[in-house]
Amino acid sequence: MKEKVLISACLIGSNCKYSGGNNCLDENVLSRLKEKYDLIPVCPETAGGLSIPRDPSERLGDKVVSNKGRDVTEEFSSGADIAVTLAERFNCRTAVLKERSPSCGSHMIYDGTFTGTAIPGRGLAAEKLYNRGIKIMSENEVIETVETAEAAETPVERPALKDILAACDHTLLRVDCTADEIKTLCDQAIKYNCASVCIPPCHVAGAKRYVGNKLPICTVIGFPNGYMTSSAKAYEAADAIRNGADEIDMVINLSMVKDACWDDVAKDIKTVRDATKGHILKVIIETCLLTQDEKLKLCEIVSASGADFIKTSTGFSKGGATFEDVKLMRENCPADVKVKAAGGISSLEDAEKFMLLGAERLGTSRIVKIAIAEEEKAAAQQE
Ligand code: SF4
Repeated sequence: MKEKVLISACLIGSNCKYSGGNNCLDENVLSRLKEKYDLIPVCPETAGGLSIPRDPSERLGDKVVSNKGRDVTEEFSSGADIAVTLAERFNCRTAVLKERSPSCGSHMIYDGTFTGTAIPGRGLAAEKLYNRGIKIMSENEVIETVETAEAAETPVERPALKDILAACDHTLLRVDCTADEIKTLCDQAIKYNCASVCIPPCHVAGAKRYVGNKLPICTVIGFPNGYMTSSAKAYEAADAIRNGADEIDMVINLSMVKDACWDDVAKDIKTVRDATKGHILKVIIETCLLTQDEKLKLCEIVSASGADFIKTSTGFSKGGATFEDVKLMRENCPADVKVKAAGGISSLEDAEKFMLLGAERLGTSRIVKIAIAEEEKAAAQQE
């Protein structure tokens, strides 16, 4: 399903301008946009009850006034509310709006003197959409959107098996795993050049003694429920590091998330970050338990926390990584916050797709198993 984008109706050819004309985008730009997105047109001014044609208006502080001095704030405000309702009904995360309009201007508007003087500011609808967390783009920025769409369609090189293996945290977190199984896991991870082994905290010291510096050891903290106190998590993390862990995958406090105690969620992560300085910290947000808004908020919090990775899942809840979640995390975290997909990665195709969507680590044991099976198959063919 294509992403839905709210757009000023005049930009797609609707004759709703105050003069009765439109501001239709270039044909190529418009067709590229339509290919990539479902466009939801809105003209806030006509939606608010103003006629076509109408007197030109400009913002004057909180008010909107026509060039004849008529206060049209009420109509503009009600049209802006309709634009917000439409955006929310269609779950639009982006609005492409006509620059300089007293309704739609996204970065610039006219200054209220009717002299053609533009100043930084937003139209009334753009302001309300922005305040509801919707990304506002001017028509001038649309070209950037089109380029992004074109880049996404450009065939990309599929990662080779060795590259997928190198992104794997070869994982064994089963509650009844044995020391021998952990040793086998380490042997496999070294042989296939995996990023690390991800193992329970109780096996870290033994694994470190076994592999020395041949392989990074990753372990899990506050796992899998995340509702331990922050100091307990910090202690666990420091203990794991003392035992030889190189990387820490912590679970956030989902109870705090559901209570919308965002400062506490951030403090919980920060406490573990402070206890893991100099080591890689991955923050598991357990996407299968989150609403879309919570995922976006957590992208923001994890990005600000100083963590190295945001990670989808523990693999012990209702669901694992999804392509949509990895894409959302990649798009909503800065480049220096990497994405780890984990939970339910069962095929090479899934692993490839997660990496193409921006995951730089994969939490799975399946890929090594696939590599082993391929080697066995090749050996059998040679016999
Ligand atoms: Fe275009 Fe927006 Fe003005 Fe309507 S209100 S004509 S959509 S700029």
